[in-house]
Amino acid sequence: MTFSKLKLSPPILDAVSELGYETPTAIQKKAIPAILSGRDLVASAQTGTGKTASFVLPLLEMLKGERKRRAKRLRALILVPTRELAVQVESNICQYGKYVDVKSMAMFGGVDSEPQKQQLIDGIDILVATPGRLLDMVHQRALHFDELQVLILDEADRMLDMGFIGDINKIIERLPEQRQNLLFSATIPDGVRLLADTAIDNPIEVSIADNSATTPQISQWVVSVDKDIKSTLLSHLIKEHQWTQALIFIRTKHGAAKLVSQLEKRGIKAESIHSGRSQAVRTQILADFKSGEIGILVATGIASRGIDIDELTRVVNYDLPDDADDYIHRIGRTGRAGSCGEAVSLVSMDDFKRLCAIERRLDQILDRRKIEGFTTVKELPDSNLNFVSSSTGEKKPKKRDKKKRDEASREERKPKPRKSNNNSHTETSDGSSTSTPDSQNPWLNIRKK
Ligand code: AMP
Repeated sequence: MTFSKLKLSPPILDAVSELGYETPTAIQKKAIPAILSGRDLVASAQTGTGKTASFVLPLLEMLKGERKRRAKRLRALILVPTRELAVQVESNICQYGKYVDVKSMAMFGGVDSEPQKQQLIDGIDILVATPGRLLDMVHQRALHFDELQVLILDEADRMLDMGFIGDINKIIERLPEQRQNLLFSATIPDGVRLLADTAIDNPIEVSIADNSATTPQISQWVVSVDKDIKSTLLSHLIKEHQWTQALIFIRTKHGAAKLVSQLEKRGIKAESIHSGRSQAVRTQILADFKSGEIGILVATGIASRGIDIDELTRVVNYDLPDDADDYIHRIGRTGRAGSCGEAVSLVSMDDFKRLCAIERRLDQILDRRKIEGFTTVKELPDSNLNFVSSSTGEKKPKKRDKKKRDEASREERKPKPRKSNNNSHTETSDGSSTSTPDSQNPWLNIRKK
């Protein structure tokens, strides 16, 4: 299927084709016609699947064309959890809307509100905003919703996780009853379902959770490492494997600053973004990371939300996140739009429970790799994503894909413990690998759910 089948006008198709997009992704194929039909929509789609274009393209189609803007009015509102995502989505609107007359702006907190108020004075077609700053503006009567036609909740699960539900409800109460509502969320937990039930009218539901053709292929692996040598191991991986680009997630802002200085002491140029840095500095660092000027970026989870970089090859979990869904969000930064990516996690014993939760969430055991020269005092136990066979009492994997199961049963005919991944892969100091190729190793190329 090509984009031209999606009833988008030539100026929008031209912009899309200039960006090199040849075919719509799965979410785009499903969401664009649904949105253009005027229906409400609830879509379960992760970052990295092309979800932004799936709502921005039809939005541009619906709003394009000459129309007098009224002061302080907007026609479409996109609510997002973070300022980084606001900037990112708005820049996508500018890219996709290059040849149409649609005016957009990003609005977020942590910066002077005066320039944002000025921008609103002549009216806006599409406003991308974080909930807190938007409410401030409403209270200051800097904008009015009486001309609003479309509401989009982007990364709804993330907004709820970040405690925005109160603000979102207050905003929704102020919107005109007659409007189109679109909700995008990586996962649809109960809170998001409740929000959808209250704010959205008889929606079309689309989910691309099990999509195969366009879901990114991400090679995920973990290294068991003692906590006190994590930074040494990371430096080794960066140098030995010549990682020129990595987005490294770490738990705290102090940890981020410390890690950057440890890397720099070992001759590795790195930068960090976290809540302790000003918005201007964060924006500049992100721009430098995108342009490739900064190769190694250490980020806390919150500060990194919304980072959208084509061809981000690698994310590293220096610390695993508390929430397994956050892991999925993080690795969604790489392997975008069908390209390959790598997600590496440095896991110490105190992260083991988190690793188990992630493996349960993925329903997959992540490949464990050993790095030559790094021995671990507290070696991670085997994955607990196993069950005990009721007939033999032996442990075997809870889930293997069908082909693998059939092969195994032909060869073995009786249940055996799953081969531990602990020693399944050895990396030599020159970075070469002695593991089976990824294509033959079911534990390596794990499809994002
Ligand atoms: P998103 O899920 O919106 O964060 O998009 C992920 C990445 O996919 C972005 O970098 C987009 O530029 C890119 N993208 C979106 N749609 C397509 C497409 N149809 N073909 C190729 N790349 C795309």
